[in-house]
Amino acid sequence: MYVVQIASECAPVAKVGGLADVVYGLSRELSIRGHNVEIILPKYDCMRYDHIWGLHVAYENLCVPWYDGAIYCTVFYGWVHGQQCFFIEPHSGDNFFNRGHFYGGLDDHMRFAFFSKAALEFLQQSGKRPDVIHCHDWQTGLVPVMLFEMYKYHGLWDQRICYTVHNFKHQGITGADVLWATGLNNEGYYFNYDRLRDNFNPFALNLMKGGIVYANAVTTVSPHHAWEAHHTDISCGLGHTLHRHQDKFQGILNGIDYSIWNPDSDKNIPVQYSWDSIQDKQKNKKALRQRLLLDDSDPNKPIVAYIGRLDDQKGVHLVHHAMYYALERGAQFVLLGSATENSINSWFWWEKGHLNDNPNCHIELGFNAELAHLIYAGSDMMVVPSNYEPCGLTQLISLKYGTVPIVRGVGGLVSTVFDRDHDQHRSTKERNGYVFYQTDNNALESAMDRALGLYYVYPEEFKQLQIQGMQSDYSWSSPGDDYEELYNFVRV
Ligand code: ADP
Repeated sequence: MYVVQIASECAPVAKVGGLADVVYGLSRELSIRGHNVEIILPKYDCMRYDHIWGLHVAYENLCVPWYDGAIYCTVFYGWVHGQQCFFIEPHSGDNFFNRGHFYGGLDDHMRFAFFSKAALEFLQQSGKRPDVIHCHDWQTGLVPVMLFEMYKYHGLWDQRICYTVHNFKHQGITGADVLWATGLNNEGYYFNYDRLRDNFNPFALNLMKGGIVYANAVTTVSPHHAWEAHHTDISCGLGHTLHRHQDKFQGILNGIDYSIWNPDSDKNIPVQYSWDSIQDKQKNKKALRQRLLLDDSDPNKPIVAYIGRLDDQKGVHLVHHAMYYALERGAQFVLLGSATENSINSWFWWEKGHLNDNPNCHIELGFNAELAHLIYAGSDMMVVPSNYEPCGLTQLISLKYGTVPIVRGVGGLVSTVFDRDHDQHRSTKERNGYVFYQTDNNALESAMDRALGLYYVYPEEFKQLQIQGMQSDYSWSSPGDDYEELYNFVRV
């Protein structure tokens, strides 16, 4: 099958969060299964060009109609760790992708509406006719809209679209300007509740809603989150739309790419290990302490970690509390995170200054992919106290590295972490971490107490729990089957 992924991120070249891992990991899995997979991305100036091989111009003078004129683009081609990628570079004063960041512009909806249109123009003009186009999140929500309202009349008549929602929080709420810019034009038609009109703001268009309405199949990234999206307010106003389109909506759990996230072959950590050589994890713990200048006088002191965005979704107040509670319980704490909100950013910079001389705590603010590998390998426990979590990759990576996850029971965390003490549905051999449900400090503390208690008092049992986590399979193998089946389904 010929599959084209159109996305705003792809690991490791353009990565902000889990979306990037999914685009890369799923593409790789499908390629291994013999499918022809291509990925189309914007050519950001801030990409990791050191991870692109053989970058060269593949298509020049791609003319993309835009308002009543056109923007010419150059399309580059290169390999990203074995995956075929096209990068679209527009030449216009808008400087859409030369901003030094991936997201955060006031005109993001225009930047990605342009990208969506340019990707379709590229397929159309270069004669590419994929069987399935897979697009992701609000940034590419206009792809199915434009495909079925415009491009199917211009050569792309036989293509099918799978649309994956990674995060309902960001839906691409915008005005009519995207219609005029992309040539969809007809305001009266699209400002309709059955099409793109936002469910709550009658004067706005909702790009994610467009993706859901027009795509042939819609997925979100875990079965439990699909249930939440249907039955709770987690879908941020799109519940009714999902209900209308429930026949084509389902949850498919993300996998992680074990060619990148595998302690047995990870080049970013000093000592490789697997479940049968888990004692070598200790050497990475030592390396982590050395790198972050943490006290190493008691090698058995546990390290609790957090890796992820610092924002409301991730339960930032509980992350903060976990840090102080770990210290209070005699553990060390390592935090690697980045905040987009100024107030949270300043808050954690203040904490960083405040805890600077504490030999048991390190706060690293910013995005650092290499350091993340060492933290997964060197820590004993990982807290993931999210308010909501569509799938979550942090806990899956932690499991693979023998780092016991302590998670809040929401979204994909429910589908992947099984409480050692209380999970009634899993045998003791399948349990792999700790789960709490409420959003208050006490709930978090009780789960941390149970994890730290096992670590301190029953180290052998803690080790057994780590091994059970390492043995669970969250590769792309099973989700690969599910997506393959879905692609086949939309083709008929
Ligand atoms: P998100 O909601 O951000 O997509 P996920 O848990 O699905 O969260 O995926 C997060 C991914 O990004 C993981 O691979 C995690 O290791 C990585 N990550 C998050 N924050 C950072 C950071 N500051 N530095 C390095 N990697 C990070």
